[in-house]
Amino acid sequence: MIWPEAGDTIAAISTPPGEAGIGIVRLSGPEAEPIARRLFRPRRPRGHWQSHRLYLGHFLDSQGHVLDEVLLTLMRAPHTYTREDVVEIHCHSGPAVMKAILGEVLARGARLAKPGEFTLRAFLSGRLDLSQAEGVLEVIKARTEASLRVAQAHLAGGLGRRLGELYMALLGVLAQLEAALDFPEEGAELSPKALMEQLAGPHIELEQLLATYRQGRLLREGVRVVLAGRPNVGKSSLLNRLLDADRAIVTDIPGTTRDVIEETLELGGLALCLADTAGLREARDRVEELGVARSRERLAQADLILYLVDVSEPPSPEDARTLEELADRPVLLVMNKMDLPPQLHAQDLGRFSPHPVVAISALTGQGLKDLEEAIANLVLAGGVRTDGEMVTQARHAELLARAGEALGQGRELLEQAEPPWELVALEVKEALLALGKITGEEVGEDILDRIFEQFCIGK
Ligand code: GDP
Repeated sequence: MIWPEAGDTIAAISTPPGEAGIGIVRLSGPEAEPIARRLFRPRRPRGHWQSHRLYLGHFLDSQGHVLDEVLLTLMRAPHTYTREDVVEIHCHSGPAVMKAILGEVLARGARLAKPGEFTLRAFLSGRLDLSQAEGVLEVIKARTEASLRVAQAHLAGGLGRRLGELYMALLGVLAQLEAALDFPEEGAELSPKALMEQLAGPHIELEQLLATYRQGRLLREGVRVVLAGRPNVGKSSLLNRLLDADRAIVTDIPGTTRDVIEETLELGGLALCLADTAGLREARDRVEELGVARSRERLAQADLILYLVDVSEPPSPEDARTLEELADRPVLLVMNKMDLPPQLHAQDLGRFSPHPVVAISALTGQGLKDLEEAIANLVLAGGVRTDGEMVTQARHAELLARAGEALGQGRELLEQAEPPWELVALEVKEALLALGKITGEEVGEDILDRIFEQFCIGK
């Protein structure tokens, strides 16, 4: 439960833990200035502190001993992130000094902020709508430039604005329906055809937004790529090649990659989360069994499977079986060890596999460019949009789907000879409710809790 008690002052360390040049302790609330005044001694004494200015001075503990030399800024409401008075103390970043400063601030009456509480206050004060607040989280978590661009667009309010327009359009439809239903004697005639047209536009737009969700997730969370194949075909070698590092253990004893190894790399603006899995063959012991089970789980969740085969060996029935199992999954068939005399040809496997094929050598690096291109083509089929009107949150996608469904039902009802107007109005209301939940016009505490709990403390 992170619903704030109104009017109290919160504080937290806003920078990551560890040793660094500076760290920031942040306060927000009416007591921020009085607390800072008791603990901060500016180099040059001054009565009035100007807003948004940096002051150099000492931060003292309760006995008046110097804890650190700091820069302090007071930002007075309402021109702040939370629209409350905000104080930032820029001190040296070390675990002891930051904890001591935060401790003094808390001892003087501030309360430790909960995760995301600064941003929650920004939302509650109306400075950000909910999709913008979620954009803050996305900016913090963005791993690639492309995902950062989308997150910045959310922060700027692109999605919220577009949904706002749809919301208003639907509200207009609802108003017509309700007017006609409430005051039939006024003779307001409802035209099914006109209403149908007014619903069609927003409905199509919602569906289009929803379609961006898959790509949005790929941009935000990265593409889950799994390396699979029999032991010793070169999965670890390829992983290392792609990462240019020797993280996975490469050996020629089958089954040495016992657990799942995961690494992230960037390819054409996309984050690829590569997982090297233990082989899929029958396990001989308990540890291997666990590895195989985990591999299968990874395979089930993968956005793309790189299935490796060793071309220096004759066709294996096990590969054929696995490829058949994976027939309707997104698979790229990777023929590895092309530097060795081939015993296996693409057509040997073609019979079992409808998947695209590339030939490489993880040892010499041959064909790696082709592989990267093939991955990018498969993942980006349809092209990735980064113009900001993209859905990246599961919560948004779920609500858009609900709104889209309601509008679809509304349109169907309008096709009846005698449209049941009340039911049409109900569907439009349902769609409005769902849209309002995205921008935060219609959200309950439980949803806010779930969103803001994902933040780190201090944001
Ligand atoms: P994994 O069990 O699938 O992870 O396979 P590894 O990456 O551990 O490789 C098994 C063996 O095959 C190692 O001795 C590698 O050096 C070797 N190997 C991997 N890729 C190639 C390749 O493209 N060509 C050749 N000649 N050997 C390779």
